[in-house]
Amino acid sequence: MKGTVYKSTGSWYSVKAENGTFYDCRIKGKFRIGGIKSTNPIAVGDHVDFEIETKGDETIGVISGIDERENYIIRKSVNLSKQTHIIAANIDVAFLLITLNNPPTFTTFIDRFLVTAEAYHIKTVLLFNKIDAYNEDELFEIKMLAALYRNIGYECIGISATTGKNVDKVKELMTNKVTMFSGHSGVGKSTLINTLEADLDLKTSKISEQHLQGQHTTTFAEMFDLSFGGQIIDTPGIKGFGVVEMEKEELGNYFPEFFERKENCKFNNCLHLEEPNCAIKEALENDEIAWSRYKSYLQILEGEEDHFRKDIYGE
Ligand code: GDP
Ligand code: ZN
Repeated sequence: MKGTVYKSTGSWYSVKAENGTFYDCRIKGKFRIGGIKSTNPIAVGDHVDFEIETKGDETIGVISGIDERENYIIRKSVNLSKQTHIIAANIDVAFLLITLNNPPTFTTFIDRFLVTAEAYHIKTVLLFNKIDAYNEDELFEIKMLAALYRNIGYECIGISATTGKNVDKVKELMTNKVTMFSGHSGVGKSTLINTLEADLDLKTSKISEQHLQGQHTTTFAEMFDLSFGGQIIDTPGIKGFGVVEMEKEELGNYFPEFFERKENCKFNNCLHLEEPNCAIKEALENDEIAWSRYKSYLQILEGEEDHFRKDIYGE
């Protein structure tokens, strides 16, 4: 049978078969996928093959195979083992919720998120939430910010989770897709999910509570069906994606507006710092690239990984 993993505890998996039935499954023997050494070879969102085994009146599924992933997000544990934990796989769209204040979302946070999403090949849509609560100056600032990111190619929507403004546009993007919501605590993720689908709120808050109660190091995601088609992946306790390890030369590839210009740099290994005839620095001087983006680039290049971890996991 074929199915999709909706929940994982590390040893047991809840798999929804194509006929809509959920099966408790375990993994057959040990198998490693795609060369990733991970504590959990199978993650929420994975498409798997499994067989039903009946022992007495007990029915369990045994997972025997896994389809190649479109993408996946990971987190590395901070303890000595440095184990990689796959949080979720096959995500169609990640929504990043942004607020100007209460809480503030800084461009460095947005850019770090986008870099990781680019590296993971996950489409991101930026949702500027709480537009009902801003004054004129703040609305102007939001518009400038949205224009900046739209210019780079990211879809941006101004929404209000409480009044429902533009929530239909979010719904449209979610229909028949696997999606997830990210952003700082307090930006309105739960409120938005509740506005989209009132029944879902209970489930997500329940998991988050469980997560808070258990003093453990591993976070398990869970997937939920949406009444209007599609699934949402809840990743309790995680505000964004994990850190991607990359070479310094690679970083510019994940800034789309850098990537499209870098072939015009004199040196093909240009880091866009002090090198002569750098197309990125020229575009910056001509206001074709935003200084805030360059600042984020420098910050990530300098490798403030600890700061990043704090941003994402609160560690
Ligand atoms: P989460 O931590 O991201 O899940 O954020 P919550 O959904 O718990 O929202 C945090 C606070 O922001 C709550 O008091 C919400 O009522 C409020 N909030 C969420 N969305 C909006 C919005 O669109 N406008 C306004 N004015 N407040 C909002
Ligand atoms: Zn350059």
